Amino acid sequence: MKKLIFSGIRATGRLHLGNYLGAVKGMLELQADPDYEMLFAVVDIHAMTTPYDKDKLSQQTYEVVLDYLACGLDPEKSMLLVQSKVGDLHTELAFYFSTVITIAKMQHLPTFKEKVKQHPDNVTMALLNYPLLMAADILAYRSELVPVGIDQEPHLEVTREVARKMNSLYGLDFPEPKRFATKGEYVPSLFGEGKMSKSVEGSFINLTDDLETIKKRLAKTPTDAGKSDGKPASSGVVALLDMVALFEGEDKKNEYLKQYMDGDGIRYGELKKELAEAIYKELQPIWEKRKELEKKPDYVKQIIEDGAKKARQIASQTLAEVKEKMGLL
Ligand code: ADP
Repeated sequence: MKKLIFSGIRATGRLHLGNYLGAVKGMLELQADPDYEMLFAVVDIHAMTTPYDKDKLSQQTYEVVLDYLACGLDPEKSMLLVQSKVGDLHTELAFYFSTVITIAKMQHLPTFKEKVKQHPDNVTMALLNYPLLMAADILAYRSELVPVGIDQEPHLEVTREVARKMNSLYGLDFPEPKRFATKGEYVPSLFGEGKMSKSVEGSFINLTDDLETIKKRLAKTPTDAGKSDGKPASSGVVALLDMVALFEGEDKKNEYLKQYMDGDGIRYGELKKELAEAIYKELQPIWEKRKELEKKPDYVKQIIEDGAKKARQIASQTLAEVKEKMGLL
């Protein structure tokens, strides 16, 4: 039996380089491993934990589905899951998990505090429960590995705590899931401050951006004089060099660092042009495939339905076991 691996992306917009390098690349690596079966999820219920537009949610969900398929999700090998298609099972499981985790634990999570800062007028119960719904997503399929970016580590810690408590209190046998890390586990924001995120406008490069758009977006990254005795201190420059390492290799980054510290200095115009071209080269096949998929809505719809059906079978078995062990009739 293949082991199931779950990973999800919120339906909050088109995928960007951070999602691709931090999560999707890991999912594709595991999809290629015959020991595993990957579950690529679009977590649309999680998108409701921060302010969202009800008229756009289903379209945004569909966009992520297309992005997954364009990046290489192979429906012959992997499942595609729109979370709300099994929302009844996942939210019910999350409720049972909420009985073993304290409010204090959830309030102290750095991810919660960050969202409170971003949306001070929308600190809802749904937001507080975000990590428990994620624990349900993962444990419903007994996923031992989770290919996600480093920003998700606190949530995985909650998932492990849930698993430990459910196992010791109720005799269940959930695994304690570990993060499956990729080289791009943290892609910085184009502003230099914080991570690249769908919910921070201007921070990202989308997988569907063309060369001109990539250039325009990179143009906004702040730089400095290009030369100094020590390592670059400007967060924009650090972010640019990190991206150079990811798309053009560590050697190229070291070359720039040398120019910065003991050479003629970095010419950022050229750096950004080369970087844009390297990014574009990696993205071009993705958006070409995406254009093809846009013409096949029935095919895509079928993949969504098939994935939901298969996932429902597995998650309902887990839920039945949890209910029984927790003493429900
Ligand atoms: P976003 O913050 O852009 O809305 P999500 O919360 O939907 O993204 O996260 C989806 C996946 O992408 C998660 O696995 C997350 O860890 C990963 N991810 C998001 N942003 C980045 C980033 N800047 N660098 C690396 N991985 C990221």
